[in-house]
Amino acid sequence: MSPIHLTGPLLVDRAADRRDTVDLDAIDAIVVRDGSVLALDGQLVFVAPADQPAASLRVYLGREAGRDIAALVPVDPAFGTNDDGIDGERMVGLRDLIGSLALRGAEGARDRELAATAVAITTWHANHPRCAVCGDLTEPRKGGWVRWCERDKKEHYPRTDPAVIVAITDQEDRLLLAHASYWSPRRFSHLAGYVEPGESFEQAAHREVFEEAQLVLRDLAYVGSQPWPFPASIMVGFTASVDDAAFVLDQDEISEAMFVSREEIVALVADGTVILAPHGSIARRLLEGWYGGPLADAPHGEGFNG
Ligand SMILES: [Zn+2]
Repeated sequence: MSPIHLTGPLLVDRAADRRDTVDLDAIDAIVVRDGSVLALDGQLVFVAPADQPAASLRVYLGREAGRDIAALVPVDPAFGTNDDGIDGERMVGLRDLIGSLALRGAEGARDRELAATAVAITTWHANHPRCAVCGDLTEPRKGGWVRWCERDKKEHYPRTDPAVIVAITDQEDRLLLAHASYWSPRRFSHLAGYVEPGESFEQAAHREVFEEAQLVLRDLAYVGSQPWPFPASIMVGFTASVDDAAFVLDQDEISEAMFVSREEIVALVADGTVILAPHGSIARRLLEGWYGGPLADAPHGEGFNG
């Protein structure tokens, strides 16, 4: 399995007891806007207070190696987009950043945790400016971890929407690869879908797989989970097998699928027929867990996030 460090404790102490008291203007910050994060050479940039741009929002991320860290949303929508050289600091989409950080060991894992948290919490603020009960504008409180409605005297909390993803094998240990109708061409990954109210993660996995492919799972086993803030998900990963591999696709959701052997997947990637989920994603971890080791991407291919 690829080392994505998601099964242990948090790598950054969120220090929730400091959220009310830390001066967010006076601590180092990572810069985040519209799902992108300020990076340099594939690594997070930590900006000292004196160098920080004017901010429309600051959120306390926690304490790491003796320093407090915030996420900062710049007022200037063009901040970090003036990319006048490949070596300069610039705003990088979280999907791309996760891929590069996945190759950077423990420090990359810490930075991925900070970046994913920063994108998730700032996206929630951007999408939830008003009280869902009365419609009044709300304001950030507690270091940016709640929004407060003054009219209702009510706190609103960030939301995370769970989705299940299942690596499915047949009786010959071939893996199901599926192409979702809305993905760009050649991208293949596992079946996945959102958990609905009133069901467990496991029940959601059984339901989604049957809805999308009419496959009946057995030996469903939890592998791990990964925050996936696009815009607000956490992916809950499973493996499962099927006795009967004859699938019937819901073409509105899945336009193409196939069971592939290890030899076949190598060939399909090498000749460009299939583009795999990116390094650092739980989809990739499930894939390489089945494969038994790292899988190379096509020489000039780009991984994607499925
Ligand atoms: Zn309200």
